[in-house]
Amino acid sequence: MQSKDILALGLGLESPWELVDQELNTEVEPHELHLRVSAPRGSLFPCPECGQWCKARDFKEMTWRHLNFFQHHAYITADVPRTDCPDCGVKRITVPWAREGSHFTLLFEQVALSLLREMPVNAAARQMGVTDKRLWRVVNHYVGRALDRIDLSNVSAIALDETAAKRGQHYVTVFIDLERAENPVIFATPGQDKDALRRFRNHLQAQGGAANGVWEVVCDMSQAFQAGVTETFPNASLTTDWFHVVQRVTDAMNDVRKAEAKAIKLPKGARWATLKAGERQRNNRQDQALAELEAMGAATGEAYAIKEKLRWVRQATSQQAARWRLTRFLRLAKALTAEVETLEPMRKALATIEHQFEAIIRRWRSTYSNARLEGLNSIFQAARARARGYRNQQTFITMIYLLAAPIGKVEKSI
Ligand SMILES: [Zn+2]
Repeated sequence: MQSKDILALGLGLESPWELVDQELNTEVEPHELHLRVSAPRGSLFPCPECGQWCKARDFKEMTWRHLNFFQHHAYITADVPRTDCPDCGVKRITVPWAREGSHFTLLFEQVALSLLREMPVNAAARQMGVTDKRLWRVVNHYVGRALDRIDLSNVSAIALDETAAKRGQHYVTVFIDLERAENPVIFATPGQDKDALRRFRNHLQAQGGAANGVWEVVCDMSQAFQAGVTETFPNASLTTDWFHVVQRVTDAMNDVRKAEAKAIKLPKGARWATLKAGERQRNNRQDQALAELEAMGAATGEAYAIKEKLRWVRQATSQQAARWRLTRFLRLAKALTAEVETLEPMRKALATIEHQFEAIIRRWRSTYSNARLEGLNSIFQAARARARGYRNQQTFITMIYLLAAPIGKVEKSI
């Protein structure tokens, strides 16, 4: 086999295309390998509209960036014909190694997408020797196309959560299909309000789904979401995700501690001692800090006790038991927080829990575990890392899709 044949094999060229010339340009850094691809004179090409074989009318020279050949940048150049179809007229054909409008070969794009699942965009761009801007264009194309093809006609149970590319930045709301075990993200949109819900509903309907077909929505404790859900999905029962109940109470405890620390001296290590999930993860000093908090009758200690009591509610094995435990929890916690001014943040959290009581205990009847929503956090983290350095929401959303939407092997759909 000659070197030319080996290269042609690597390109996956199909008849009538063949490799006719190769040249290594060593005058530029990195060196460039230029491959010339051509079809014999008089070859017939399929009309891009109807597929019938036609003669070429004229040609235009085009060049595509291909995968690096060892350390050299590789390019393919070919004269691309326009077919003169008797039915469809004159049309430029799409060559088999690249999609229309792209200046990369399909193989190049495929490798780029695989790399982007593993490393930040700017690192992948460096490694492939292209500008990040062009790489983003490739990603946007494939993600956009894949999203348009996802069939949402069977979506009946969804969960939604919000996240930001960076702390304090604008939020993005992410919707997952609870029936999908893998790659559950079906929509992500800027904002964290009713409009985000409406945009999701419109997308759902555009992709064959129906708002009336959604009978379960799992979400966090935000009032805007909860009100929006009932409005947007009239048949859905609302479940408040337990993870967010814990988060809300933990935040309240933190606020109490911060406020109290301004007024009195709290024991060293109070912050981490109160944030640790259980006894097993704490060290001696943290145990001591908790004991001191209790001994001094600190509001932070009370807030911590309330947060820890949530675990007991969570362990209820039936909805009936959960109803009883949550009722007792609220009664106890309200008594503990009554008339202590520093505990105001906790009182507010308890009021929210009371307000959403039914939605919270519905999780004991729901068939969906909230492990799915918690798992989303690691996806968000990865998307944040991949999109690092790019400041807009859209890049963050695109990365969430690439990592967690059912677009599976984007490259396989080429
Ligand atoms: Zn035609």
